[in-house]
Amino acid sequence: MTSPTLVQFAYFAAAVLFILGLKSMSSPLTARRGIVWAGVGMVLATLATFLTPGMHNFALILLAIVIGGGLAWWSGKIVKMTDMPQMVAIYNGMGGGAAAAIAAVEFARGEAHGELSLALAVLGALIGAISFAGSCVAFAKLQGIMNKAFRLPAQNIVNIALATATVVVGLSIVLVATPTPAQVVVFFVLALLLGVVVTLPIGGADMPVVISLFNAFTGLAVGFEGFVLGIPALIIAGIVVGAAGTLLTQLMARAMNRPITNILFTPISGEAQGGAAVEGTMKELSGLDAASLMRFAQKVIIVPGYGMAVAGAQHKVWEMAKLLEEAGVEVKFAIHPVAGRMPGHMNVLLAEAGVPYEQIFDLEEINAEFPLADVALVIGANDVVNPVARTDKSSPIYGMPILDVDKAQNVIVIKRGKGAGYSGIENALFYQDNCRMLYGSAQQAVADVIQNIKTMG
Ligand code: NDP
Repeated sequence: MTSPTLVQFAYFAAAVLFILGLKSMSSPLTARRGIVWAGVGMVLATLATFLTPGMHNFALILLAIVIGGGLAWWSGKIVKMTDMPQMVAIYNGMGGGAAAAIAAVEFARGEAHGELSLALAVLGALIGAISFAGSCVAFAKLQGIMNKAFRLPAQNIVNIALATATVVVGLSIVLVATPTPAQVVVFFVLALLLGVVVTLPIGGADMPVVISLFNAFTGLAVGFEGFVLGIPALIIAGIVVGAAGTLLTQLMARAMNRPITNILFTPISGEAQGGAAVEGTMKELSGLDAASLMRFAQKVIIVPGYGMAVAGAQHKVWEMAKLLEEAGVEVKFAIHPVAGRMPGHMNVLLAEAGVPYEQIFDLEEINAEFPLADVALVIGANDVVNPVARTDKSSPIYGMPILDVDKAQNVIVIKRGKGAGYSGIENALFYQDNCRMLYGSAQQAVADVIQNIKTMG
């Protein structure tokens, strides 16, 4: 086999592995295998690049691989589960930046490109640069480096002016075919600025949706640059990432019942207003009472949320569930699609703790079972179990599908105090007659319940 044929074959095999990998990632049962397959595809594509005819600068390529690979290995090892969203943000940003860099190299080479190819290179560069700059801002916000959402005076006008200027300079590059360095520099500065300015006003808590959107952008940018370079594997990988990112963005927006335009331009981020005042008082219960309610129940449904992730309480929660099962109680876990701060957040944590997948149920699967449950145990979840989403049209979360925890015979809520959820609004569930609050950080509160269950034999 000649080297170009071998390269094309390797790229084709890599593309197939990307698709199969992504398909496997759609189920928690096969997700780990999917990640391995996609990783093998990536290694294959990288190795094939070395065989590309005319390839040189091998030492520089190897150096980049060692630095990038080393940093990724190290950060992947040390990152905490709760810091995963910012990790995804920065990795995704790198993808967008790489796509933009490919275009920059093509402009700098000054070789004749067809008009279509040049237009796609400019488009890829624009989207990639926005994604890179925006993802860096998202990372800074989620990492707590940047705490505030900055809104410029006349923000929308600034956005439109910047976008128009970037597109005009981009068009000029396509028209002249061999752009000057100044043209290219101005284009990238404007595109990067646009990414920063669009992302700055968005609150930290909305960032996961924005990251998912930028992920789709990165895929698109990579696909365009794949076309420019004539590499099918890059085109396919880009399309797959772009499509997956778009679907994920839509899924998150739907699960929050907020159009994507609303998330981008009207962030709520903990400063939500509106909704009817909630009446009544929150009623407390002790670890002992919580333990006996669950120990002598027939069916308990556990609903984890962001607070369980922050407390890292998943292992304790599973220990408690096993104790209850040993005592003959049926235990199920219910996961809301946007519980926590990224899609699949709770699934990953519960899987890490060893909870079998068959015991974990999605909203549509489990909602009908809440009225049959003796106890619904809510651990650090708030918005995703707030019944006003069903009943109060004036509430900012009205229409968001929720877990119908309020319909269970008894509800126990573990949280540290009277703090609101991500949306910043009061939770009517906590004031209901069938609801009791077990105050404390999730890890300690569950440990307390475990101790008490053990004393009951
Ligand atoms: P929320 O953010 O609504 O509420 C979390 C609750 O956990 C708080 O009320 C807090 O109360 C409690 N808590 C915090 N720390 C601890 C702790 N150590 N121990 C016990 N409890 C604790 O969480 P949900 O999971 O219910 O909802 C997720 C929210 O995030 C939704 O509004 C969703 O729209 C939004 N979102 C989700 C995304 C996703 O993809 N998953 C993306 C973007 C936004 P207290 O302070 O009193 O302890």
